[in-house]
Amino acid sequence: MTLKLYNTLTRKKEEFAPIDPENVRMYVCGPTVYDFAHIGNARPIIVFDVLFRLLRQIYGADHVTYVRNITDVDDKINARAAEEGVSINAVTDRTIKQFHADIKALGVLEPSVEPRATEHIGEMKAMIEDLVERGHAYVAEDHVLFSVSSMDDYGLLSNRTVEEMEAGARVEVAAYKRDAMDFVLWKPSGEGEPAWDSPCKIPTRGRPGWHIECSAMADKHLGEVFDIHGGGVDLVFPHHENEIAQSRCAHGTKAMANVWMHNGFLQVEGEKMSKSLGNFITVNELLKDWPGEVLRFNMLKTHYRQPIDWTVKGLEEAHKVLRDFYTIAQEFREEPAPHWEVVEALSDDLNTPWVRAILSKLKKENDFKSIAGSLSFMGFSVDLAKLNGQDISDAETTVKIDALIHARLAARAENNWAEADRIRDELVEMGIQLKDGKNPETGMMETIWEIKR
Ligand code: AMP
Ligand code: ZN
Repeated sequence: MTLKLYNTLTRKKEEFAPIDPENVRMYVCGPTVYDFAHIGNARPIIVFDVLFRLLRQIYGADHVTYVRNITDVDDKINARAAEEGVSINAVTDRTIKQFHADIKALGVLEPSVEPRATEHIGEMKAMIEDLVERGHAYVAEDHVLFSVSSMDDYGLLSNRTVEEMEAGARVEVAAYKRDAMDFVLWKPSGEGEPAWDSPCKIPTRGRPGWHIECSAMADKHLGEVFDIHGGGVDLVFPHHENEIAQSRCAHGTKAMANVWMHNGFLQVEGEKMSKSLGNFITVNELLKDWPGEVLRFNMLKTHYRQPIDWTVKGLEEAHKVLRDFYTIAQEFREEPAPHWEVVEALSDDLNTPWVRAILSKLKKENDFKSIAGSLSFMGFSVDLAKLNGQDISDAETTVKIDALIHARLAARAENNWAEADRIRDELVEMGIQLKDGKNPETGMMETIWEIKR
């Protein structure tokens, strides 16, 4: 089966050919940890988790390295710490813990490596010095800047010339920049800002720019040139364009990554999500009302490159469809294999809407085992009890289950089969399986129940 991926760099869907099939390498820009992850942030996490699972399926679980970083040096983090009067570490530590808990609920696998920017300052400084040495960067007023004009093909990813970018840029140009498009690799730190000894013999202490963080971490964990680099579409320019410029110029290579993938944006009930509009929703808040798997399923209903309109109506529909699939696929939950058509659809640039159509087709064909295998392959538990958010072990639920079982036995005693079946379905929805049989000791008919997990 061939894997095809849309490459932002060439603006085409291309057949994927890894540099080394023994070690397929992917880097995805992770969160800047100053606040709860919002549902837009969850999109690349879920989308690239599906790709990670697919790559593991195709090349073998031990032959894929997935790096998703944590940006824990950023001015937004400093601002948040100052605002709350707490240390920077206090902000990043609690945000990282929350982030991990939130995305675990979304059924996301851990990446192979999750590097933190603060643990790679040495690599960043070394890369900055290489860039200066090679004539691609310069020191000015205790900053180090990347010189865009030192590169003859800057702008390939966003497909714009430097002239077009300059015309579009409204930023005020700092006096120390030689060229308006030059960007910061290192900057001096003020009072209360995180600071390290600077590279290039700069006397004041400072901190790295955002773009160099990813270039250095990708190089350290994946090498100079690797297979796939991903993130949201907002990162194409300037972040990814600048990562490419830094990495290629520092290493003298033609590429940083061969395939560049970008997920589309998510908006809420038809509007751009923003704090000022009051429609900013965090994953954490959503998880109070919806099982994580419903959020995941809703996210994958739309193809990853299309914009998503995130609505309550959509979530309700996702919940219903997922519950229907779980109800019929329950008993095959341990079935690990995805249906080949599902792998084929995902291999077509992660065509998840097509996967959904295949699942419906499998349902019509009564192939529940393939539904279970395909859903669990894509990160779903296929566990009705979990989906219904019930802790079946709790005493109250046990009482309810016993009452339902008695009501069902009473209905059967009256030959009311419709009612008996309805109750059985209700129990199945709760993740309960019934077994009817004669008690060998008393010779009486009785029903035992067990939780399907
Ligand atoms: P940030 O923490 O802002 O650097 O963003 C982390 C990731 O979330 C990046 O890959 C962004 O492109 C992505 N992202 C942020 N907002 C949205 C959104 N509304 N829709 C989709 N992706 C987003
Ligand atoms: Zn990045």
